[in-house]
Amino acid sequence: MDKMFHAVRLDSDKCTGCINCIKRCPTGAIRIRSGKAKVLKELCIDCGECIRVCPTHAMKAVYDHLSITEGYEYKIALLSPTIFGQIRNLEDLDYVMTAFKKIGFDDVFETSRAAELISEATRKYMNSKSYEYPVISSACPTVVKLIQLKFPDLCSHVSPIKSPMQIAAKMAREEAINKTGLDTEKIGVFYISPCTSEVTEAKNPIIHGETGIDGVIGICEVYHQLVATMEKLDKVDAIANSGLIGVSWAIDGGESAALMSSHYLFAGGIENVMNVLEEIEEKKFKRLHFVELRACDAGCVGGILTVKNPFMAKARTQILRKYLPVSMNHLETDGIPTEMLLGASINPVEGMKLSDNLFDALAIMQKIDGIEKKLPGLDCGACGSPSCKTFAEDVALGYSTENDCVFIMRDQVQHFAKQMSLLGMNLGENRADDND
Ligand code: SF4
Ligand code: SF4
Repeated sequence: MDKMFHAVRLDSDKCTGCINCIKRCPTGAIRIRSGKAKVLKELCIDCGECIRVCPTHAMKAVYDHLSITEGYEYKIALLSPTIFGQIRNLEDLDYVMTAFKKIGFDDVFETSRAAELISEATRKYMNSKSYEYPVISSACPTVVKLIQLKFPDLCSHVSPIKSPMQIAAKMAREEAINKTGLDTEKIGVFYISPCTSEVTEAKNPIIHGETGIDGVIGICEVYHQLVATMEKLDKVDAIANSGLIGVSWAIDGGESAALMSSHYLFAGGIENVMNVLEEIEEKKFKRLHFVELRACDAGCVGGILTVKNPFMAKARTQILRKYLPVSMNHLETDGIPTEMLLGASINPVEGMKLSDNLFDALAIMQKIDGIEKKLPGLDCGACGSPSCKTFAEDVALGYSTENDCVFIMRDQVQHFAKQMSLLGMNLGENRADDND
């Protein structure tokens, strides 16, 4: 496990230093230094916004390719339910699942099966009333990381239940061991993912704990081969085992609708998510029980590794639901099985550390205040930092100098010019005196 792994990378050669990305990044994780973007890994939450706005494609998503499956005796494709909305006129999940078997997988498992179990477990959790209102879904790793970094007081609101990807990976592996008798290391579980956020969480699991996933393949990597294979299918295997409750997790409001409660709210898109979190922090939603937040528009179908327009994929998923039973997966116990719970609580994360020493940190904070007072407060980004506040922090920590601010530089040039002109006038007067 690479603790600094992020699925969003920069190709410096393509970066023109245009500052589009620093203005868009929700956590202020990007700086422009020497004309090129630089991502501060400790602040990056893998939302993919910088990829969406980069005009030169210098920011890109990293994911595994199909070749990662080589070397495993038994290969399982773990499907995000977002894949179904990518396919036109789909009425039967088995078309997609059978096509995955034709392109090299031995088995296919829907994460929507685990989503149905999580919906049931969350209903039990909500009925227990042993939580702080409102409960915030833990399903989107980007949202949880955003809460840890920017809304630390809301960490205790995050649902303690693991994500569908993680629970499904365990279920798929166990089923495969029972079916084949193979040792676990001979079985490869490969998640077919819609987003960078889940790529990072699978490879560097800091929220949901060890995932048991051996590779994460972007939907965009397999899409064309999948569609071409589906077109040639004359019969399909009966593999699908999830209903509309699980498949609906792919689109906005799907997770909340399964809770059978009217006191819920959904928000998708990183700016909307930040606005909702701010209002929860201000205790504006007093009657709300559950909040479903996704970093992407329209829900997970809007992930950066999908192929189709998110709203089109959402519409297709809604139509597909007509052909599905309500739910196919149910918990076998009265309570919530402990293996479905996060192993550790969600805690705040300090982004940019000022100092390990409290007195030094206070001194740096004073310095930041002093520098910020000299700045115009326009958050123009011309200095290479996303805002005047972050620029003041960068200067105080020695990563930038005050002269990187064009306004401070302009004032200094004007001051210098004034001094020069005064000096010139003095010299002129002295010469006039000499002539007298
Ligand atoms: S958006 Fe960011 S990464 Fe892309 S060219 Fe501009 S500065 Fe570079
Ligand atoms: S992925 Fe999101 S958080 Fe990370 S650098 Fe890009 S915009 Fe910022």
